[in-house]
Amino acid sequence: MTVEAEPMPIPEPPPAAPLPPAAAPGTPDEESGVPLPASADLLPGAPPAPRSVLHDVPERALRSLLLTMSRQRWLGRVATGTPITRGMVARFVAGQSLDEVLPAVASVIAAGMHTTVDVLGESVTSAEDADGAVGRYLQTLDALAERYLERNVSLKLSQMGLGLDRELCRENVERVFRRAAEIGAFVRIDMEDASTVDATLATWRGLRPVNASSGVVIQAALRRSARDVEDLIAERGPVRLCKGAYKEAPDVAFTDRADIDQSYAELMDRLLHDGAHTALATHDERLIGRAVKMAKADGIARDRFEFQMLYGIRRDLQERLAAAGYTVRIYVPYGTSWYPYFMRRLAERPANVTFLLRSLFSEGAGSGSGGKD
Ligand SMILES: Cc1cc2nc3c(=O)[nH]c(=O)nc-3n(C[C@H](O)[C@H](O)[C@H](O)COP(=O)(O)OP(=O)(O)OC[C@H]3O[C@@H](n4cnc5c(N)ncnc54)[C@H](O)[C@@H]3O)c2cc1C
Repeated sequence: MTVEAEPMPIPEPPPAAPLPPAAAPGTPDEESGVPLPASADLLPGAPPAPRSVLHDVPERALRSLLLTMSRQRWLGRVATGTPITRGMVARFVAGQSLDEVLPAVASVIAAGMHTTVDVLGESVTSAEDADGAVGRYLQTLDALAERYLERNVSLKLSQMGLGLDRELCRENVERVFRRAAEIGAFVRIDMEDASTVDATLATWRGLRPVNASSGVVIQAALRRSARDVEDLIAERGPVRLCKGAYKEAPDVAFTDRADIDQSYAELMDRLLHDGAHTALATHDERLIGRAVKMAKADGIARDRFEFQMLYGIRRDLQERLAAAGYTVRIYVPYGTSWYPYFMRRLAERPANVTFLLRSLFSEGAGSGSGGKD
Protein backbone atom coordinates (compact mmCIF):
# COMPACT_ATOMS: atom_id res chain seq x y z
CA MET A 1 0.00 0.00 0.00
CA THR A 2 1.36 3.39 -0.83
CA VAL A 3 0.84 6.12 1.69
CA GLU A 4 0.72 9.58 0.27
CA ALA A 5 2.54 12.17 2.31
CA GLU A 6 0.50 15.08 3.54
CA PRO A 7 1.19 17.88 1.06
CA MET A 8 3.23 20.73 2.50
CA PRO A 9 1.06 23.81 2.93
CA ILE A 10 2.15 26.39 0.37
CA PRO A 11 1.67 29.98 1.43
CA GLU A 12 -0.34 32.04 -0.98
CA PRO A 13 1.88 34.67 -2.59
CA PRO A 14 1.00 38.21 -1.60
CA PRO A 15 -0.93 40.02 -4.31
CA ALA A 16 1.23 42.30 -6.44
CA ALA A 17 0.40 45.90 -6.97
CA PRO A 18 -1.79 46.34 -10.03
CA LEU A 19 0.03 46.75 -13.30
CA PRO A 20 0.32 50.45 -14.05
CA PRO A 21 -1.14 51.67 -17.31
CA ALA A 22 1.31 52.16 -20.15
CA ALA A 23 3.02 55.53 -19.97
CA ALA A 24 1.62 58.13 -22.29
CA PRO A 25 3.39 58.23 -25.64
CA GLY A 26 6.39 60.49 -25.42
CA THR A 27 6.88 60.04 -21.67
CA PRO A 28 10.24 58.43 -21.03
CA ASP A 29 10.45 55.99 -18.18
CA GLU A 30 12.47 58.23 -15.87
CA GLU A 31 12.34 56.06 -12.76
CA SER A 32 14.10 53.09 -14.31
CA GLY A 33 16.90 55.18 -15.75
CA VAL A 34 17.02 52.82 -18.70
CA PRO A 35 16.55 54.24 -22.17
CA LEU A 36 13.40 52.19 -22.64
CA PRO A 37 10.35 53.81 -24.12
CA ALA A 38 7.27 52.80 -22.19
CA SER A 39 5.30 52.80 -25.37
CA ALA A 40 6.15 51.56 -28.83
CA ASP A 41 4.91 54.93 -30.10
CA LEU A 42 8.02 56.52 -28.67
CA LEU A 43 10.34 54.81 -31.09
CA PRO A 44 11.98 57.48 -33.19
CA GLY A 45 10.95 57.19 -36.78
CA ALA A 46 8.73 54.18 -36.16
CA PRO A 47 5.93 53.96 -38.71
CA PRO A 48 2.43 54.19 -37.27
CA ALA A 49 0.97 50.83 -36.31
CA PRO A 50 -0.57 49.32 -39.43
CA ARG A 51 -4.34 49.06 -39.48
CA SER A 52 -5.29 45.46 -39.83
CA VAL A 53 -7.29 44.62 -42.95
CA LEU A 54 -9.17 42.34 -40.60
CA HIS A 55 -9.93 45.15 -38.14
CA ASP A 56 -13.62 44.38 -38.12
CA VAL A 57 -13.05 40.80 -37.05
CA PRO A 58 -12.96 40.72 -33.26
CA GLU A 59 -9.35 40.13 -32.31
CA ARG A 60 -10.16 37.42 -29.81
CA ALA A 61 -12.09 35.40 -32.42
CA LEU A 62 -9.27 35.72 -34.92
CA ARG A 63 -6.71 34.65 -32.33
CA SER A 64 -8.83 31.65 -31.45
CA LEU A 65 -9.24 30.71 -35.11
CA LEU A 66 -5.48 30.97 -35.75
CA LEU A 67 -4.72 28.81 -32.71
CA THR A 68 -7.22 26.21 -33.87
CA MET A 69 -5.63 26.28 -37.33
CA SER A 70 -2.19 25.83 -35.74
CA ARG A 71 -3.26 22.32 -34.71
CA GLN A 72 -4.51 21.23 -38.12
CA ARG A 73 -1.86 18.94 -39.58
CA TRP A 74 -3.28 19.03 -43.09
CA LEU A 75 -3.08 22.82 -43.16
CA GLY A 76 0.50 22.53 -42.00
CA ARG A 77 1.29 20.19 -44.87
CA VAL A 78 -0.25 22.63 -47.36
CA ALA A 79 1.48 25.67 -45.85
CA THR A 80 4.93 24.12 -45.63
CA GLY A 81 4.68 23.11 -49.28
CA THR A 82 3.84 26.66 -50.40
CA PRO A 83 6.94 28.67 -51.31
CA ILE A 84 4.98 31.92 -51.21
CA THR A 85 4.73 31.91 -47.41
CA ARG A 86 8.49 31.59 -46.97
CA GLY A 87 9.23 35.31 -46.84
CA MET A 88 6.89 35.81 -43.91
CA VAL A 89 8.04 32.65 -42.18
CA ALA A 90 11.66 33.77 -42.47
CA ARG A 91 10.80 36.69 -40.26
CA PHE A 92 10.21 34.36 -37.30
CA VAL A 93 12.23 31.27 -38.24
CA ALA A 94 16.00 31.53 -38.57
CA GLY A 95 16.39 28.85 -41.22
CA GLN A 96 15.30 25.44 -42.38
CA SER A 97 18.62 23.70 -41.71
CA LEU A 98 21.49 23.68 -39.25
CA ASP A 99 23.68 25.36 -41.87
CA GLU A 100 21.22 28.22 -42.01
CA VAL A 101 20.65 28.66 -38.30
CA LEU A 102 24.29 28.73 -37.20
CA PRO A 103 25.09 32.07 -38.88
CA ALA A 104 21.87 33.48 -37.40
CA VAL A 105 22.99 32.40 -33.93
CA ALA A 106 26.43 33.89 -34.54
CA SER A 107 24.95 37.22 -35.59
CA VAL A 108 22.72 37.44 -32.50
CA ILE A 109 25.80 36.80 -30.35
CA ALA A 110 27.83 39.35 -32.34
CA ALA A 111 25.08 41.89 -31.53
CA GLY A 112 25.80 41.38 -27.82
CA MET A 113 22.94 39.03 -27.03
CA HIS A 114 22.56 35.39 -26.05
CA THR A 115 20.69 32.55 -27.71
CA THR A 116 18.66 29.44 -27.12
CA VAL A 117 18.12 27.27 -30.20
CA ASP A 118 14.84 25.47 -30.83
CA VAL A 119 14.71 22.64 -33.36
CA LEU A 120 11.15 23.12 -34.59
CA GLY A 121 8.75 20.21 -34.27
CA GLU A 122 5.97 19.09 -31.97
CA SER A 123 3.25 16.50 -31.48
CA VAL A 124 5.12 13.71 -33.25
CA THR A 125 3.02 10.71 -34.20
CA SER A 126 5.65 7.95 -34.26
CA ALA A 127 8.61 6.79 -32.21
CA GLU A 128 10.76 7.19 -35.34
CA ASP A 129 9.86 10.87 -35.59
CA ALA A 130 10.67 11.38 -31.92
CA ASP A 131 13.99 9.61 -32.45
CA GLY A 132 14.68 11.87 -35.44
CA ALA A 133 14.04 14.93 -33.25
CA VAL A 134 16.50 13.65 -30.63
CA GLY A 135 19.08 13.17 -33.39
CA ARG A 136 18.60 16.75 -34.58
CA TYR A 137 19.05 18.08 -31.05
CA LEU A 138 22.25 16.07 -30.57
CA GLN A 139 23.56 17.35 -33.91
CA THR A 140 22.63 20.90 -32.95
CA LEU A 141 24.37 20.67 -29.58
CA ASP A 142 27.50 19.29 -31.22
CA ALA A 143 27.49 21.95 -33.94
CA LEU A 144 27.11 24.76 -31.37
CA ALA A 145 30.01 23.36 -29.37
CA GLU A 146 32.22 22.85 -32.44
CA ARG A 147 31.73 26.44 -33.54
CA TYR A 148 32.14 27.86 -30.02
CA LEU A 149 28.61 29.23 -30.11
CA GLU A 150 26.43 29.43 -27.03
CA ARG A 151 25.34 25.98 -25.86
CA ASN A 152 21.73 26.49 -24.98
CA VAL A 153 18.70 24.76 -26.49
CA SER A 154 14.95 24.66 -25.87
CA LEU A 155 12.84 21.60 -26.62
CA LYS A 156 9.24 20.46 -26.45
CA LEU A 157 8.13 17.22 -24.86
CA SER A 158 5.50 16.54 -27.52
CA GLN A 159 8.39 16.48 -29.99
CA MET A 160 10.12 13.87 -27.83
CA GLY A 161 7.07 11.59 -27.90
CA LEU A 162 5.02 12.70 -24.88
CA GLY A 163 1.80 12.04 -26.77
CA LEU A 164 2.90 8.50 -27.61
CA ASP A 165 4.41 7.14 -24.44
CA ARG A 166 5.61 9.00 -21.38
CA GLU A 167 8.53 6.65 -20.70
CA LEU A 168 9.71 6.86 -24.32
CA CYS A 169 9.57 10.63 -24.02
CA ARG A 170 11.56 10.59 -20.77
CA GLU A 171 14.23 8.39 -22.35
CA ASN A 172 14.47 10.69 -25.37
CA VAL A 173 14.81 13.80 -23.25
CA GLU A 174 17.40 12.00 -21.14
CA ARG A 175 19.53 11.44 -24.26
CA VAL A 176 19.50 15.17 -24.95
CA PHE A 177 20.14 16.03 -21.29
CA ARG A 178 23.13 13.64 -21.17
CA ARG A 179 24.79 15.07 -24.27
CA ALA A 180 24.09 18.58 -23.02
CA ALA A 181 25.70 17.75 -19.67
CA GLU A 182 28.78 16.36 -21.45
CA ILE A 183 29.36 19.58 -23.34
CA GLY A 184 28.16 21.98 -20.63
CA ALA A 185 24.95 23.02 -22.36
CA PHE A 186 21.76 24.37 -20.81
CA VAL A 187 18.44 22.76 -21.77
CA ARG A 188 15.09 24.47 -21.26
CA ILE A 189 11.94 22.39 -21.57
CA ASP A 190 9.32 24.59 -23.21
CA MET A 191 5.79 24.47 -21.82
CA GLU A 192 3.00 23.37 -24.13
CA ASP A 193 -0.74 23.34 -23.51
CA ALA A 194 -2.21 23.00 -20.01
CA SER A 195 -2.76 19.25 -20.32
CA THR A 196 1.03 18.72 -20.42
CA VAL A 197 2.10 20.76 -17.40
CA ASP A 198 2.19 17.93 -14.84
CA ALA A 199 4.10 15.63 -17.18
CA THR A 200 6.51 18.40 -18.13
CA LEU A 201 7.34 19.36 -14.57
CA ALA A 202 7.65 15.71 -13.53
CA THR A 203 9.93 14.88 -16.47
CA TRP A 204 12.20 17.81 -15.69
CA ARG A 205 12.29 16.95 -11.96
CA GLY A 206 13.18 13.36 -12.77
CA LEU A 207 15.97 14.37 -15.16
CA ARG A 208 17.37 17.32 -13.28
CA PRO A 209 20.08 15.13 -11.68
CA VAL A 210 21.25 14.21 -15.21
CA ASN A 211 21.83 17.85 -16.12
CA ALA A 212 21.48 20.42 -13.36
CA SER A 213 21.86 23.06 -16.03
CA SER A 214 18.24 22.83 -17.11
CA GLY A 215 14.98 24.58 -16.48
CA VAL A 216 11.29 24.81 -17.19
CA VAL A 217 8.70 27.33 -18.30
CA ILE A 218 5.71 28.72 -16.45
CA GLN A 219 2.78 30.32 -18.27
CA ALA A 220 1.17 33.29 -16.55
CA ALA A 221 -2.12 32.49 -18.28
CA LEU A 222 -2.62 29.30 -16.29
CA ARG A 223 -4.54 29.58 -13.04
CA ARG A 224 -2.36 26.92 -11.41
CA SER A 225 0.89 28.80 -12.05
CA ALA A 226 1.04 30.64 -8.70
CA ARG A 227 1.33 27.26 -6.95
CA ASP A 228 3.82 25.91 -9.49
CA VAL A 229 5.96 29.00 -9.02
CA GLU A 230 5.99 28.51 -5.24
CA ASP A 231 7.10 24.90 -5.73
CA LEU A 232 9.82 25.94 -8.15
CA ILE A 233 11.03 28.67 -5.80
CA ALA A 234 11.28 26.08 -3.02
CA GLU A 235 13.30 23.68 -5.18
CA ARG A 236 15.48 26.43 -6.72
CA GLY A 237 14.31 25.61 -10.23
CA PRO A 238 15.31 27.99 -13.03
CA VAL A 239 12.10 29.35 -14.53
CA ARG A 240 11.31 31.03 -17.81
CA LEU A 241 8.14 33.04 -17.31
CA CYS A 242 5.97 33.66 -20.37
CA LYS A 243 2.33 34.62 -20.89
CA GLY A 244 1.34 31.37 -22.62
CA ALA A 245 0.80 30.77 -26.32
CA TYR A 246 -1.90 28.08 -26.35
CA LYS A 247 -5.66 28.07 -26.57
CA GLU A 248 -7.00 27.12 -23.14
CA ALA A 249 -10.37 26.70 -21.49
CA PRO A 250 -11.46 29.41 -19.04
CA ASP A 251 -11.54 26.96 -16.13
CA VAL A 252 -7.78 26.40 -16.39
CA ALA A 253 -6.58 29.71 -17.76
CA PHE A 254 -7.20 33.43 -17.68
CA THR A 255 -8.45 34.42 -21.08
CA ASP A 256 -8.61 38.17 -20.63
CA ARG A 257 -5.37 39.94 -21.59
CA ALA A 258 -5.48 42.22 -18.54
CA ASP A 259 -5.79 39.21 -16.21
CA ILE A 260 -2.89 37.45 -17.90
CA ASP A 261 -0.74 40.57 -17.61
CA GLN A 262 -1.66 40.95 -13.95
CA SER A 263 -0.79 37.31 -13.32
CA TYR A 264 2.53 37.78 -15.13
CA ALA A 265 3.33 40.79 -12.94
CA GLU A 266 2.56 38.83 -9.75
CA LEU A 267 4.59 35.77 -10.75
CA MET A 268 7.46 37.94 -11.93
CA ASP A 269 7.55 39.74 -8.58
CA ARG A 270 7.70 36.41 -6.72
CA LEU A 271 10.42 34.96 -8.97
CA LEU A 272 12.59 38.06 -9.00
CA HIS A 273 12.54 38.31 -5.23
CA ASP A 274 12.80 34.68 -4.18
CA GLY A 275 13.35 32.49 -7.22
CA ALA A 276 16.46 30.96 -8.69
CA HIS A 277 17.66 32.42 -11.98
CA THR A 278 14.62 33.82 -13.80
CA ALA A 279 14.13 34.36 -17.51
CA LEU A 280 11.48 36.95 -18.27
CA ALA A 281 10.18 35.97 -21.69
CA THR A 282 8.08 38.82 -22.98
CA HIS A 283 8.07 41.69 -25.46
CA ASP A 284 5.67 43.65 -23.25
CA GLU A 285 7.38 46.92 -22.45
CA ARG A 286 5.25 47.62 -19.39
CA LEU A 287 6.26 44.33 -17.81
CA ILE A 288 9.89 44.80 -18.80
CA GLY A 289 9.83 48.32 -17.37
CA ARG A 290 8.32 46.96 -14.16
CA ALA A 291 11.08 44.35 -13.86
CA VAL A 292 13.79 46.94 -14.42
CA LYS A 293 12.33 49.26 -11.80
CA MET A 294 11.82 46.49 -9.28
CA ALA A 295 15.35 45.17 -9.74
CA LYS A 296 16.76 48.63 -9.16
CA ALA A 297 14.55 49.47 -6.22
CA ASP A 298 14.96 46.14 -4.45
CA GLY A 299 18.62 45.54 -5.23
CA ILE A 300 18.03 42.45 -7.38
CA ALA A 301 21.35 41.78 -9.09
CA ARG A 302 21.34 41.71 -12.88
CA ASP A 303 22.88 38.25 -12.96
CA ARG A 304 19.80 36.82 -11.20
CA PHE A 305 17.55 37.36 -14.19
CA GLU A 306 17.53 37.86 -17.94
CA PHE A 307 15.11 38.99 -20.60
CA GLN A 308 14.16 36.60 -23.37
CA MET A 309 12.52 37.42 -26.69
CA LEU A 310 11.69 35.62 -29.88
CA TYR A 311 13.77 35.79 -33.03
CA GLY A 312 12.37 38.47 -35.33
CA ILE A 313 10.16 40.18 -32.76
CA ARG A 314 10.96 43.63 -31.36
CA ARG A 315 14.59 43.70 -32.42
CA ASP A 316 14.68 47.36 -31.40
CA LEU A 317 13.74 46.47 -27.84
CA GLN A 318 16.16 43.53 -27.74
CA GLU A 319 19.05 45.76 -28.75
CA ARG A 320 18.09 48.59 -26.44
CA LEU A 321 17.96 46.32 -23.39
CA ALA A 322 21.27 44.70 -24.31
CA ALA A 323 22.85 48.13 -24.79
CA ALA A 324 21.60 49.10 -21.33
CA GLY A 325 23.59 46.19 -19.89
CA TYR A 326 20.83 43.61 -19.39
CA THR A 327 21.24 40.00 -20.43
CA VAL A 328 18.97 39.40 -23.42
CA ARG A 329 18.51 35.91 -24.81
CA ILE A 330 16.91 35.31 -28.18
CA TYR A 331 14.90 32.18 -28.85
CA VAL A 332 16.14 31.09 -32.28
CA PRO A 333 13.95 28.43 -33.94
CA TYR A 334 14.92 26.53 -37.06
CA GLY A 335 13.70 23.58 -39.06
CA THR A 336 11.12 22.58 -41.61
CA SER A 337 8.29 21.91 -39.13
CA TRP A 338 7.61 25.59 -38.62
CA TYR A 339 3.84 25.66 -39.15
CA PRO A 340 2.42 25.49 -35.57
CA TYR A 341 5.12 27.82 -34.25
CA PHE A 342 4.42 30.30 -37.05
CA MET A 343 0.66 30.18 -36.49
CA ARG A 344 1.11 30.95 -32.79
CA ARG A 345 3.15 34.01 -33.79
CA LEU A 346 0.30 35.14 -36.05
CA ALA A 347 -2.20 34.57 -33.26
CA GLU A 348 -0.20 36.70 -30.82
CA ARG A 349 -0.52 39.70 -33.06
CA PRO A 350 -3.34 39.40 -35.57
CA ALA A 351 -1.93 42.43 -37.44
CA ASN A 352 0.68 39.92 -38.63
CA VAL A 353 -2.09 38.35 -40.70
CA THR A 354 -2.30 41.62 -42.60
CA PHE A 355 1.40 41.40 -43.42
CA LEU A 356 0.99 37.79 -44.45
CA LEU A 357 -1.92 38.60 -46.74
CA ARG A 358 -0.02 41.53 -48.23
CA SER A 359 2.98 39.35 -48.87
CA LEU A 360 0.79 36.70 -50.44
CA PHE A 361 -0.82 39.19 -52.79
CA SER A 362 2.18 41.31 -53.65
CA GLU A 363 5.20 40.56 -55.71
CA GLY A 364 7.44 41.44 -52.79
CA ALA A 365 6.44 38.30 -50.94
CA GLY A 366 10.00 37.95 -49.68
CA SER A 367 10.05 41.07 -47.49
CA GLY A 368 7.01 40.64 -45.30
CA SER A 369 8.40 42.24 -42.15
CA GLY A 370 6.57 45.56 -42.02
CA GLY A 371 6.48 47.55 -38.85
CA LYS A 372 9.09 47.87 -36.19
CA ASP A 373 9.14 44.37 -34.78
C1 LIG B 1 11.84 33.46 -25.33
C2 LIG B 1 10.39 33.05 -25.32
C3 LIG B 1 10.07 31.74 -25.05
C4 LIG B 1 8.74 31.34 -25.03
N1 LIG B 1 8.43 30.06 -24.64
C5 LIG B 1 7.13 29.72 -24.52
C6 LIG B 1 6.76 28.45 -23.99
O1 LIG B 1 7.59 27.60 -23.65
N2 LIG B 1 5.43 28.17 -23.89
C7 LIG B 1 4.46 29.07 -24.26
O2 LIG B 1 3.28 28.78 -24.12
N3 LIG B 1 4.80 30.27 -24.77
C8 LIG B 1 6.09 30.62 -24.90
N4 LIG B 1 6.41 31.86 -25.39
C9 LIG B 1 5.36 32.71 -26.02
C10 LIG B 1 4.63 33.57 -25.00
O3 LIG B 1 3.83 32.75 -24.18
C11 LIG B 1 3.75 34.62 -25.69
O4 LIG B 1 2.80 33.97 -26.48
C12 LIG B 1 4.51 35.59 -26.57
O5 LIG B 1 5.75 35.93 -26.02
C13 LIG B 1 3.72 36.91 -26.74
O6 LIG B 1 3.50 37.49 -25.50
P1 LIG B 1 4.25 38.81 -24.96
O7 LIG B 1 4.68 38.52 -23.57
O8 LIG B 1 5.33 39.21 -25.86
O9 LIG B 1 3.14 39.90 -24.81
P2 LIG B 1 2.04 40.46 -25.81
O10 LIG B 1 1.16 41.30 -24.96
O11 LIG B 1 1.43 39.38 -26.61
O12 LIG B 1 2.87 41.37 -26.78
C14 LIG B 1 3.51 42.56 -26.36
C15 LIG B 1 4.06 43.25 -27.59
O13 LIG B 1 5.07 42.42 -28.18
C16 LIG B 1 4.97 42.44 -29.59
N5 LIG B 1 4.64 41.07 -30.04
C17 LIG B 1 4.31 40.01 -29.27
N6 LIG B 1 4.11 38.91 -30.04
C18 LIG B 1 4.32 39.30 -31.31
C19 LIG B 1 4.27 38.64 -32.57
N7 LIG B 1 3.98 37.34 -32.66
N8 LIG B 1 4.53 39.34 -33.69
C20 LIG B 1 4.84 40.65 -33.62
N9 LIG B 1 4.91 41.33 -32.45
C21 LIG B 1 4.64 40.68 -31.32
C22 LIG B 1 3.91 43.43 -29.93
O14 LIG B 1 4.55 44.68 -30.10
C23 LIG B 1 3.03 43.43 -28.71
O15 LIG B 1 2.34 44.62 -28.54
C24 LIG B 1 7.72 32.29 -25.36
C25 LIG B 1 8.06 33.61 -25.62
C26 LIG B 1 9.37 34.01 -25.60
C27 LIG B 1 9.68 35.44 -25.83
